[in-house]
Amino acid sequence: MKTEFSLAQLADPDIAEADKILRACVHCGFCTATCPTYVLLGDELDSPRGRIYLMKEMLEKNTAPTEAVVKHIDRCLSCLSCMTTCPSGVHYMHLVDQARVRIERDYKRPPAERLLRAVLARVLPEPKLFRAAMKLAGAARPLARLLPTPPASATKPTLVGRLAAMLALAPAGLPEPGPAAGRVFAALGRKRGRVALLQGCAQQVLAPRINQAAINVLTRHGIEVVLVKDEQCCGALTHHLGREDDALARARANVTAWSAEIAREGLDAIVVTTSGCGTVIKDYGHLLREDRDFAAPAARISALAKDITEYLAGIEMKPVQSARNDVVVAYHAACSLQHGQKVTVIPKDLLSKNGFVVKDVPESHLCCGSAGTYNLLQPDIATRLRDRKIANIASVKPDMIAAGNIGCMVQIAGGTSVPVVHTIELLDWATGGPRPLSN
Ligand code: SF4
Ligand code: SF4
Repeated sequence: MKTEFSLAQLADPDIAEADKILRACVHCGFCTATCPTYVLLGDELDSPRGRIYLMKEMLEKNTAPTEAVVKHIDRCLSCLSCMTTCPSGVHYMHLVDQARVRIERDYKRPPAERLLRAVLARVLPEPKLFRAAMKLAGAARPLARLLPTPPASATKPTLVGRLAAMLALAPAGLPEPGPAAGRVFAALGRKRGRVALLQGCAQQVLAPRINQAAINVLTRHGIEVVLVKDEQCCGALTHHLGREDDALARARANVTAWSAEIAREGLDAIVVTTSGCGTVIKDYGHLLREDRDFAAPAARISALAKDITEYLAGIEMKPVQSARNDVVVAYHAACSLQHGQKVTVIPKDLLSKNGFVVKDVPESHLCCGSAGTYNLLQPDIATRLRDRKIANIASVKPDMIAAGNIGCMVQIAGGTSVPVVHTIELLDWATGGPRPLSN
């Protein structure tokens, strides 16, 4: 794609990067076929190619984002299916990240929306606040029925629709908190390695059992696990809301905390059980590339980050339960894992090797609609995608659904009675742990 940035514009490293990305696009449109919003809405401006044109225009003219740009970028899930499909290697993720930052900086949203986004950015990354908010929302769930139904003619998501979506996603009760930061879990038997396990923010409130399963599996296989003190939310949630300063501050804090742990006792990996977080941590090196003090350590941290299944694939696992060839598992490929990190085969292989009957889900490239805060901010599209996903999952008649991302697990569990569990919970079960409970 031909671009027309001035030399002065190209002196800005972000614009130089956008220029490189835009030039790689040959407008072939292959990406449209696998873009969930284009598949649902059929509007070119809700396709990757259409959005790329909108972003090009905004960046080249250096103008404030228009209503159209905001509408169509807000509707993008950042699922990155387009990046998997694109034959020219267009780095859509880094382009749309820039657009979101511009929108946050230069576009004045209506006051209620500004407030909602500010609350999400403040509450979601802080486990204490998130726990309190979930308790409140859980208690208020019965009131969801009293909320007026948004008019069918509404072209934009309404505040009432978003409130209803938040109440619907809130759990009726919360589990006890998991182990505190700073704890170290000793390897059982001969020590073969030492890793940090990302504690996460929303996940540690909604489902601490996931990281407990990871600790069980890792220690059982001779890996010492540390929950690093002073670690924070990875920044993914605020990053996707375009709040760059907040996301970068969290990235720097984590790079500092993990680097100190590496200096202290060493780490073979930073293991992540929430693939949305893993994608962003693997991108810290890029996010902090212009920061003289942090560029090198951030790149080192990114190189150490591994999805739990990637890490386990590198060690020999020991299934102890009798073969689970009676348990049919539908594997839901989280977008952040399959498109963001290109981890596609490993989780299914691990499940098969540990005795489960693994079924691929039709249209597995399409997002379930969770996408960070997307299901709260764009509930109509998110629910349509969820229902499509659930129909596809149901077609393989599973006993259980496995996924590697808490956001997907909550989203899918909201529309099915089939138990939804994390991949690591099944691996824990197969290697001597408890049978997993669903959301
Ligand atoms: S597939 Fe890639 S090159 Fe083709 S239009 Fe989409 S982004 Fe551009
Ligand atoms: S990230 Fe997903 S929703 Fe956004 S343009 Fe790409 S395929 Fe479409």
